[in-house]
Amino acid sequence: MTTAPRASTTDRGRDPDDLLPSGVVSTRGDVPPLGRAARNRTSGIGIMATRRPYVGGNWKMHGELAAAVELTENLVAGIGDTVLKIDISIFPPFPYLQAVGHALGHTAISLGGQDCAAHLEGAHTGQTSPAMIADLGGKVALVGHSERRHELGESDAVVAAKARAALAADLQPVVCVGETLAQREAGNALQVVEKQVRAALEGLSATQVGRVVVAYEPVWAIGTGMTATPDDAQSAHAMIRALLGELYDAQLAGSVRIIYGGSVKAANAAELFAAPDVDGGLIGGASLKVEEFSSICQFASSS
Ligand code: PEP
Repeated sequence: MTTAPRASTTDRGRDPDDLLPSGVVSTRGDVPPLGRAARNRTSGIGIMATRRPYVGGNWKMHGELAAAVELTENLVAGIGDTVLKIDISIFPPFPYLQAVGHALGHTAISLGGQDCAAHLEGAHTGQTSPAMIADLGGKVALVGHSERRHELGESDAVVAAKARAALAADLQPVVCVGETLAQREAGNALQVVEKQVRAALEGLSATQVGRVVVAYEPVWAIGTGMTATPDDAQSAHAMIRALLGELYDAQLAGSVRIIYGGSVKAANAAELFAAPDVDGGLIGGASLKVEEFSSICQFASSS
């Protein structure tokens, strides 16, 4: 049996498992490495794989500097050791990235941008490049959030360019997809989501897709208090995983984290995360509440 070194909150980068594609947990030895919540599941499409749960907190355009720092400090304390078992990212507003990064200190909670430009630098007034996010200690970027697709008219092509730019700057893209209520009511939910995923991953290699997290976020569930049923979420996630298998291969499909977003809170997280292809959540409103977000992370770690 291989004895895995105990991971501290600061030395994960030295763990040999970190050489694996993002989301793939080693099956070295007879037991999962210490500190890793191994979710060894057969997905709805019959792929057996182990994925490390992922929870992201999207703060949107809320708060002010002092409150952002205080929230970060309280989250670090509230989440505690759960961060050793799952991947957790927080996405503060851009102006607060650096201060929140400082407040995170040496915790393994990672810092992310709520968006990134499709370019690494240049004449793009008002935009923030993925390289700049990385420069401030960011490790992740949301791309294609529905509030950007719908308020700012971001197309699938723009979302794909942002995912490529994020990867080029060594950021992990969390690619958001999801149907509107009208599209769901017309019976087109899965086709819409499939088209968005295909477009976002266009031209990416298997290695690059191995770094991507896909967030299925039905638009009608975001910030509305309405949540997809675990069965509906599972159907969409299983379709996305099957698509990854078709576009790449079964091993990659089994390793990519597919998380659910849309009014997730402590009260519904456990049942959503219990679905075999739901690997965690992207959390908006509830990520601003320390107890709620910490509980959601806890449910992800024990799902
Ligand atoms: C989100 O912003 O991605 C989100 C899912 O928001 P909420 O949890 O508030 O629905």
